[in-house]
Amino acid sequence: MPAQILNGNPIRDQIYAELGQEIGELAAMGVRPGLAAVLVGDDPASKIYVRSKIAACEQLGLGSVHLTPPANTSTAELLAIVRELNSRDDVDGILVQLPLPLQIETKKILEAVDPAKDVDGFHPMNIGKLIEERPSMVACTPLGVMEILRRNGIRVEGADAVVVGRSNIVGKPMALLLMHADATVTVCHSKTRSLRQFARGADIVIAAAGHPALITRDDIRPGATVIDVGTTRITDPLLAEKLFAKLPERLEKFRKNGTAVVGDVHPDVAEVAGAMTPVPGGVGPLTIAMLMSNTVKAARLRRGLRAPETTASRR
Ligand code: NAD
Repeated sequence: MPAQILNGNPIRDQIYAELGQEIGELAAMGVRPGLAAVLVGDDPASKIYVRSKIAACEQLGLGSVHLTPPANTSTAELLAIVRELNSRDDVDGILVQLPLPLQIETKKILEAVDPAKDVDGFHPMNIGKLIEERPSMVACTPLGVMEILRRNGIRVEGADAVVVGRSNIVGKPMALLLMHADATVTVCHSKTRSLRQFARGADIVIAAAGHPALITRDDIRPGATVIDVGTTRITDPLLAEKLFAKLPERLEKFRKNGTAVVGDVHPDVAEVAGAMTPVPGGVGPLTIAMLMSNTVKAARLRRGLRAPETTASRR
């Protein structure tokens, strides 16, 4: 039986509906959560990401500030921008779009963001709190993966989970969230000798390496849940033929556009997995939804307000 496809869009819509209610309640108290997005330079992919984050704010009625300092901005100049945003009362969340140009010291910038406004969850204080399982701002993509699992009724407690990737942004917080949800977690990375051996033993595989077709059907135990975080834009026709051999419509679209966005998981995995997220349309929509959720949460926590019983922003 082919895998159940875990679409992200309906879950995003559900989360937006919950947030909409919470935003309405905050509005009645005179609070309008606001997000500031800082995009340094003009990297085309980053521009698209930031634009969709601002569009999500508009859709939900959140305030937004969009700052676009030039590519030659210095660390000191960007620090000044971040500090100004820290001091603004109408800004509850600050996101500095990564990657930053090479001359900027990224760590210094991330550490300068007020931890209470750190809606990306990248500040060392929030990462430390996450390790200790204390309330904190948590990175959006791993939070989104947990929502996909939870809202599809996929059992995490007691499950053997493999996380492929150990970045600070995805792999490490992902492993911590799964561990806190009582999974037994193995983290694989670029120096892992036998990824297959670990992945094949897992009930849940989270792929976050950024390598198309890294995970093939032979890596997955029949019936396992596979979450594909990877997003790579491909232009190589041979790779497209390999990936879309059984998906003529996608191959046709690739030939027309000369490009496609793919994950780390070969589409054939759907023939053995029990459940699987698509790329695009799986984890991606949840990343933005959890950014919105974190912004609402930050607005609430900064004012000492409690969350309603049922809303994504409790997490
Ligand atoms: P990264 O490059 O910082 O980290 C990649 C990790 O994968 C590293 O820890 C590395 O050790 C591991 N890795 C690389 N090659 C491997 C291999 N052959 N076998 C096993 N492990 C390997 O990337 P990142 O920021 O963590 O992002 C990972 C992927 O997720 C990228 O494709 C990125 O575009 C995507 N991403 C998607 C979303 C989303 O919203 N869908 C959000 C963030 C990142």
